[in-house]
Amino acid sequence: MRIIRVRHRGQAFYAAIISPESVRPLNREAGQPEEIPLAELELLSLVRPSKVVCVGLNYLDHAHEMGLAVPGEPILFLKPPSSVIGAGDAIVLPAQSEQVDYEAELALVMGRTTRYVSESDAARHIFGYTCANDITARDLQKKDGQWTRAKGFDTFCPVGPWIETEPGDLHSLALRTVVNGEVRQEGNTSNMIFPPHLLVSYISNIMTLLPGDVILTGTPAGIGPIKAGDEVSVEIDRVGFLQNPVTSEGIGEPMAMQ
Ligand code: MG
Repeated sequence: MRIIRVRHRGQAFYAAIISPESVRPLNREAGQPEEIPLAELELLSLVRPSKVVCVGLNYLDHAHEMGLAVPGEPILFLKPPSSVIGAGDAIVLPAQSEQVDYEAELALVMGRTTRYVSESDAARHIFGYTCANDITARDLQKKDGQWTRAKGFDTFCPVGPWIETEPGDLHSLALRTVVNGEVRQEGNTSNMIFPPHLLVSYISNIMTLLPGDVILTGTPAGIGPIKAGDEVSVEIDRVGFLQNPVTSEGIGEPMAMQ
């Protein structure tokens, strides 16, 4: 099932896409139609996370390309909720950076309040899966020594375009980044060091995950730069296709605030 978040007659809710033209509200309230035409809906940000928890160096091939040791435990960092944008929204290159990179990542969206969950119990706490681009100011990441600025600019966390609830085997998803129609990064989740359910368990033993929180599970080898005027997309087989234009002008409106 593919799920989007919409507003209809002043009410915001999650809905399943049931045809190219219509959706069905997930938890239908009294008086709400069973089927609503897309034309009557306003599309909202997929997620309004209290936090975006990210994993660094979670693919063997990426650890090798960075010349770094394979970590013994997941390396975590946070992106602020204000960095989240949706499919089609512009990634705005900040004036402070000379090198901004794409990073294709499988994202998990949490469905429940999750604390001290085991790896075997993690699946039922996950709402679904979507594409994310962990946009990174690579020069600032190296300069600062920690990653808050490099990873935290507004518009640096495109997520979408929908939440896929049944992507099949999580350990064999091909993912890639395409820039202006050219494949620049290719990988497979089979190359992950710490798989998705282990990550949910590991993180939930540190902090409470809330419904709508997002986990970015790391990027494979092949990271590279984007520049103003580019169209960058993250594609994950059986999950989705997330496309965003890149601009050096204007200030993006954080979708997570809607
Ligand atoms: Mg990343």
